[in-house]
Order: sequence, then C-alpha cells, then structure tokens
Amino acid sequence: MLLCSSLRTLRACARSSSLSLPHLSPNQRSLRVSLRNSGTKTFSITAPAGATVTIDKETVKIQQGSIMEPQHDPNTKFRKDYTPTPYLINNIFLDFILNEDITHVHSQMRMRPNYPSGSAPPELLLDGRKDVKLVSIKVNGSEVPAEHFVLSEKQLVVKGLPAGEFDLAITTEIKPQENTLLEGLYKSGGNFSTQCEAEGFRGITFFLDRPDVMTTYTTRIEAPKDAYPVLLGNGNLKESGALEGGRHFAVWVDPFPKPSYLFALVAGNLSCKERKFITCSGKEVTLRIFVQENNLSKVDFALESLVKSMKWDEEAFGLEYDLDLFNIVAVDDFNMGAMENKSLNIFNSRLVLASPETATDGDYARIEGVVGHEYFHNWTGNRVTCRDWFQLTLKEGLTVFRDQEFSADMNSRPVKRIEDVSMLRASQFAEDRGPTAHPIRPDSYIKMDNFYTLTVYEKGAEVVRLYSTLLGKEGFRKGMDLYFKRHDGCAVTCDDFRAAMADANGVDLSAMSTWYSQAGTPNVDVTTQYNAGSHTFTLKVKQYTKSTPGQNDKAPVLIPLAVGLLGSDGKDLPLHLRGSQASADKPPTTMVLRLEGAEQEFVFEHVDSEPVPSILHDTFSSSPAAVNQFQASFMTRSPHHLPHEPVPSILRDFSAPVKLNVEGQSDEHLLFLFANDSDPFNRWESGQRLLKKLLLRLYTAADDAKLKSLPIGDRCREAGGVGEALAGAFRNILKDESVDGSYKAMAISIPSASEMLDQIQNADPVLLHEVRMFVVKELSARLRPELEALMKQNDDAPGTPYVFSAAACARRAIKNKCLVMLAALELPETTALALGRFRGAANMTDSISALSALVEVRGAERQLALDEFYNQWKEEPLVILKWLGLQAMSNAPGNLELVKKLVDHPAFNITNPNNCYSLFLGFARSPMNFHAVDGSGYQFMGDVVLKVDKLNHQVAARMVGAFTSYRQYDTTRQELMRAQLSRIVAENGLSENVLEIANKALAA
Ligand SMILES: [Zn+2]
Repeated sequence: MLLCSSLRTLRACARSSSLSLPHLSPNQRSLRVSLRNSGTKTFSITAPAGATVTIDKETVKIQQGSIMEPQHDPNTKFRKDYTPTPYLINNIFLDFILNEDITHVHSQMRMRPNYPSGSAPPELLLDGRKDVKLVSIKVNGSEVPAEHFVLSEKQLVVKGLPAGEFDLAITTEIKPQENTLLEGLYKSGGNFSTQCEAEGFRGITFFLDRPDVMTTYTTRIEAPKDAYPVLLGNGNLKESGALEGGRHFAVWVDPFPKPSYLFALVAGNLSCKERKFITCSGKEVTLRIFVQENNLSKVDFALESLVKSMKWDEEAFGLEYDLDLFNIVAVDDFNMGAMENKSLNIFNSRLVLASPETATDGDYARIEGVVGHEYFHNWTGNRVTCRDWFQLTLKEGLTVFRDQEFSADMNSRPVKRIEDVSMLRASQFAEDRGPTAHPIRPDSYIKMDNFYTLTVYEKGAEVVRLYSTLLGKEGFRKGMDLYFKRHDGCAVTCDDFRAAMADANGVDLSAMSTWYSQAGTPNVDVTTQYNAGSHTFTLKVKQYTKSTPGQNDKAPVLIPLAVGLLGSDGKDLPLHLRGSQASADKPPTTMVLRLEGAEQEFVFEHVDSEPVPSILHDTFSSSPAAVNQFQASFMTRSPHHLPHEPVPSILRDFSAPVKLNVEGQSDEHLLFLFANDSDPFNRWESGQRLLKKLLLRLYTAADDAKLKSLPIGDRCREAGGVGEALAGAFRNILKDESVDGSYKAMAISIPSASEMLDQIQNADPVLLHEVRMFVVKELSARLRPELEALMKQNDDAPGTPYVFSAAACARRAIKNKCLVMLAALELPETTALALGRFRGAANMTDSISALSALVEVRGAERQLALDEFYNQWKEEPLVILKWLGLQAMSNAPGNLELVKKLVDHPAFNITNPNNCYSLFLGFARSPMNFHAVDGSGYQFMGDVVLKVDKLNHQVAARMVGAFTSYRQYDTTRQELMRAQLSRIVAENGLSENVLEIANKALAA
C-alpha cells in the first residue's frame, strides 16, 4: 500500500540541512523534498517518528532508523514491470441504479485463474478510488469475511479465494453529481455520463482496471423515466421496460470483449437524429447522435462525417463496422475531445455541434476529423487494444495517422499536411526539448492521464507514417491486414505492430524500435555537393539527437528522407541513385533515401545541369544590399539565369519528424524552391525558412540594440528590415493562380513564436512578439494592394449559402487572412474595414476572423465589437468559448485585468473544462500578458492551477504545462516561473497529476 495522500512536502535549503520529522508517522515510507538546485526528489525512508533527516543535494541521511537511497516516486509505474494479472474475467454483469443522491452499482463477475495451475490462489488486487464506497463483496454468493479483504484508498485486496473459477459480486455506492473530476460516472448538464479512459472505471466499482483484462459486458441501467428517458450502454439493446415508481430500465449487451476503459453509460433527457448506413457486405447499421433537444439542428454535419468515415475505412483499409448500432452522445463537461467507447462514443459537444452561424471552417474540419478518429478506433483500439498504457501510441499514433489520411482524402492533402506539421513543430517539438520529454512509448508514469500527450499522439502518428513511407501504401496495407489477422480480439504491444508490418512485407524493421524508446527530436544535417565534371550530386547526411531528461545517450534512428533535385528551369530532374535498382526508363523525381547510421552519403548520378552563370558567384560575395538587389531581380529572371547547380528539395512532404538543416542553403535557393518546388510541402517550407531567418536576424539585432531605447520598428529597420526579395516572393505566391486560397494563407503566415524559441537561447518572449508584429506590419504594408484585391476577389456574392468544402474554405481562408493582415496596420481605414466586415459577416468563420483582428487593435472598436458579439451569442455556450478565448489571447496592453474580470463573468464556469481551456490556456498563449516581465501573468496562472486542481486534476495538469518550458526564456522570467512551480508543489493536497508535471519541470 502506498501513502500518497499523507505525503508531506518538506522544504529544505540547497546545500545541507537537518529536518526533524515530528509529523512523520512510523509507517510512512516516503518523503518528498524540494532541493533548490535539482528540483523535488522523493526519497524512500524507514524512520521512527521524530527522527532527524539530513539532506545533502542528492542524498538523505537519517539519524536513528535506516535510510534508503533516493528513488522514484513510490507511485511510479514502470513498463519493465509488466506482469499479467493472476485472474481474468469471463464476463461481467453490471447493474446501475441511478438516483439523484446515491447511485448503486452491482457488479457480478465470473473470474478465472490466470496463475500457474496447482499453485495456491493468490490475492486479488482490485483497483478503486476513495470516493467509491464498498457496500458488499461476495464470493460464490457468500459475503467475504472482514479478515479476507483489505480496503485502502486505491485498492481492494481480496484473500482466501477458492481454486478454479468463481463468482465475484461487488456492490458499491457512488455520487456522480459530486464528481468534478469528470472521470468515472458523473453528471453533466443534468445527464449521467461516463469517461473511463485511462483509469476512470475504478471510480465506478472495484475492478481489474487495466487494458489487458478484456471481458464481455452486459449492462442494466435503471433510472427515473421523466428525468432520464434515454438509457444507453455499449453494444446492442437487448431489453427495456417500465418499472414501479415512475422508473424504467434498459439492458445492453456488448458481444465483443473489451477492456474497462471502453465501458460507457449515458442516462438523460436527450433527443437524437438517425441515419442508416449499409456496410460493404450489405449489413444495415443505425447511426444516431444524441444531444439536447435545442441542439438537434446542429448534428447533421457530424452524422454526415460518420457516414464518410465508415465508407472511407472500408475503402482504405477494408474495415467494416461490426454491430447493428452506433451511437454518439454530446456532453458539455468533458476533459478530452471525444472517447471511442464501443458503439457509444461520447463527445465533447464542441466536436459535434455545428451550424454555419455558430461554427467556423476550423470547427467543421475538427468535427470531421474527430468523428473519423473515434470511429476508426473501433478497429485500431477496440478490436485490437493495448496490453498496457505504456503502449498508448499503438492505438493513438495509428488512429491519428488514419484520421489525418481521412481528412487529407476528404479535403486538400497538402493543406492538411502543412497544418499537421505546423502543429507538431510548434507544440510537440517543444515537448521534446522540455522537461517532460518522453518517448512515444514511455518507460514510466505516475498518472497515466499525463501521457495523453502530443508526443504519444502526433509524433506517434509520424512514426506510423514512417512505415507507410518506407513500405509504400500497398505494403502498409499488407501490414495492417496481417496485424488484424493476428491480433483481433487481443491486447498487444507496439512490437506486435512492428512485427506485423515487417512480416507482411518480408523486411527487417528492427531499426524502427529506437523511435519507440528514444525521446527528443532527431537533427538531420545535410551538406550537398555538385560535381559538374562527373555529373554527380552528393548528399552527406548526419543525424544526432540531443540528450533529454534522464536519457543522455542517443542512438541513430531510421529516417526515410524524401529527396528531389530541381533543375535550373525549376522542374524536377530524373533521379538515378548510385547503387539503386530503380528503373532507368522512367526514373523517379522523388526518392526516399534510407538514413540509418549517424553519417551516410548518397550519390545521384547522370545529373545534368546548365553552364554556370557568373552573376551568382559575383553576388554571393557581395554586401547585404547587393544581395537584396540581386534577389529582387532574381524572381523575374528568365530560366537560364537561374541556379546552374541542381537545387535539392530535402525532406519532401516532411517524410520524418526531424529538424533539418541544409548547410549553405542560401536565400537564393530558398526563394527558388518557394517559387518552383513541385512538392507543395517543401514549397511552403521554403517560405517559412526564409521568414525564420528574417525573424532571427531582426530579433538578434533588436535584442543587441535594447539599450539604445529605440522603438522596435527602428531597431528592425536599422538591421535591414524586410527585404524586397522576400516581399516580392510573397507577392508572387499571392498572385499564383496554380495554388488555392488555403495554401496562400498558409504560405504568408509568419512562423509562430514557439517555432522560433527553438533557435533562440534565453528568449525574451515580448521582444520576439514585437519583432514578429513588425514583420507582419511590414509585409501588410508592402503587399497592401494584393491583399485588398484578394480579399475582394474571394468575397461571396450576397446571399450565397455557406458550404463546408475545400474550395469554399480556401476562399474564406485567404480572404480572412488578408483582412487580419490589413487590420494589423491599425490605420483608421483598416480598423473600419474590419468592423464593417465583422458586422456584415454571414457566417461564424468570417465573423470570428474579423473579431480576432479587432481584438488586437487599439481603439473603441475593440470593445464595441466584443460587446456586440456577446449580446448576439450569449445563449450559445460554444460561441461564447470563442469570445472568451479571443479576449484571453489578446496582446492588448494590460489585458490581464480583463481576463481576471472574465473569471467572474456570468458566462464563465470554472467547473467546465472547455471554459478553462479557452480562458486560461488562451491567456497562456499571450506573449505580452502571460509573459509580462513583472510576473503578474505567472502569478495569475499559478493561482488558477491551484484553484482548478481542487476541482479537476486533469484540467489543472494541462494548466501547469504553461510553466514547464521556462528554460527557454530569459533569466528573469525563468526565476519567476520557477517560483510559481515551487509554490505549486508546496501546496497541501496537490493532485498527483499536477505534482508529476511540476516536479519534472523543476528537476529539469
Ligand atoms: Zn484516440
């Protein structure tokens, strides 16, 4: 038994000190100590009450009593410790008696031994939670005597069990209406619903709550009929009817064995929309979406997305739905996005409800993607599940990959790829270089909830994509087919997935294993050399991964590097890789190079190129002004003046989640790629690289000139400002008719601050934001005629109905991007333009874009628009989330006071996770206010973490994430952020969720 809740946090000075432990109980075995230099450590001790403890950096000495060496938190679970349970469950019958005060849960399980036959029956350890009250426990119909079980806050241990199979019946009492954790069974909007992943089922009853214990569930639900007319469970409805006293019941049977995390129950006053789907084998499936009556008009798109997902999975992977019914329920209070419970998906309502008036294009896209994601889990997650939670990426990485492919097929593939990679680099790369860096398959955790991370999901999806890149689409499909053939109905590991991919294709993929065990983003450095005499083009490639907390030694990983070469006319050259078998008749123009070692060389042969124009050599050695001049003329040159050497396009389609550095990649090469690359990802990427180089140069100059107390604009201009070549390149892409508006909008987006932080030591986030805004304004001013023209060109004729389609989204994307850029000029006429467009908006996409522009603008229009928006939408909670989020994110000076007022606004509800995410996480995204140098933003966020943790540990753990990357910032801010983390870990009764993250951050 572990002593989590009685742990006390003792603070000690850094070098050496003595503490007496008057309050330490004789049995207490853990001591958590904050050390100024190395964060918080937990020591395991055995000491009598009153013993004196000496702390010296890494060790604790106890006078009297014995001492053990420092160790991990006693609640840490390790992947290497996996052992099967000694008991398994043949089937379970669950009976829920739902009431307003106390809910009774009767569980009846048929247990079977899983320990060696002939040995004595071992203890049965069932997971529980302190708010679950044990009422009775029976084995084979008889009450278990008190001496045969031990109940603690987290466990029920049963002894003296009979040999062979036996019946185990447990009755518990819970209070869902008081469950603010939103894990297990809880009430939301007057309805009962559940969330059991990862470890919520133990909040309902005592159980072997781990994914490798799969069993078949029958669920009976009983509740007052008036208040809860709809009763839903997993599987198919077997029976339902009326009971005495105005109550009714329903019995649901799920024939597929599943782990407890996929259990679900919903009881409430809900209405539904229904559709039929005929599967590829001709079976009819009823699809239903349940929401509150007043939202019924907003579910059509989600229902349509479900149909598309089912069809896509049949076509892309040959996977057919397996039951007669598929239900989705929308609930307002939900920690995560959505949950794939077998045949009863439960969604955060913001990922179900959409109408053109209330949802943006982004909302529509997310709904389509998430409905797909949860549906795809029916095979990748439910039919084949994870052996233990360390394998989470087995189902999540794979299913994210599948939903990315689905969205790419439904919409624009290049745009989807760019969006996914942007998010990965802005957020997951930051995780990879921060204190909580972990491999996609972690080795240990305290709270599994903390490992629902971008690394497990998004990097996990990139790792799955590597198989697809290495094996090709057909090879990947063969691997998937074998995976299901081998493991349907089983709980398996990431190694099983890799083995299926390898065996189905007859290849060795053991080199892929490092991706699962190693944290951190690999760096890939490429140097290139063209030899005109031998017509060869050589790539020398090096890879290395920087050390991450607790993992210093890094091995090379298997990286598929997709490469093309552009000739001087901007077209792809045919590729002949030395030593490769590729066909000589139709040579490819993109090749996937297999980088396995720390250093490798690849040679392309028969590379023909044009003679050397001398102007290039002259220009490269010239002054910056001359380079700018050259660049300006560069874009309009005729083809024979373009680079004489082939220009490499490396890491096409972002073929691996790495940081690429191409030695000697000049602005000229980037401009050339930005204008010509046939790979849409790399074309966009070249523009981003140009912008990052510019931002870095201006930031460095502005930082160096800090003491001059010149305005930022002057400091940036002194450093050369935004060159005409760059502005010209962006002008050209805005005019390019071959690319759509979504692509253009992304091409002219300035890289986010978090992408830049990677390249700046001890960054000043406020200065970085100001430099970024300087670039936005400069480009807006220079491109103003093009922006205004594009905005008008892409306006819909009055009365055009809203449609969510790639073409329509593309028009809105570029139109609104132009508006936001123009509004950034903060001229009276551009502000008036934004206000006019805000008032005239015909859909939420246009409305919210105009409002987001106005929120950053000084002047009366800002508040005017916010008030008008609120008055129009105050009855629509999902729209009000946007209103909260925009205000929270704003960089308007002194905005913290406004955010504090919003906490007390009637529209804000701190017990609702969506509200917290919009307001608090929104605030953490404001460089000017969250990172205010007086620490006021940090202080506010520290208060928030402590306040929310009392209500909901998972939500609080996400809030504390705002502090974890403090090492990226200047020393003043580092100190201020650390101070908040120290204050948080010192709090009494802090949740394990928050403690684990805060401690890791302090220790890093
Ligand atoms: Zn998922």
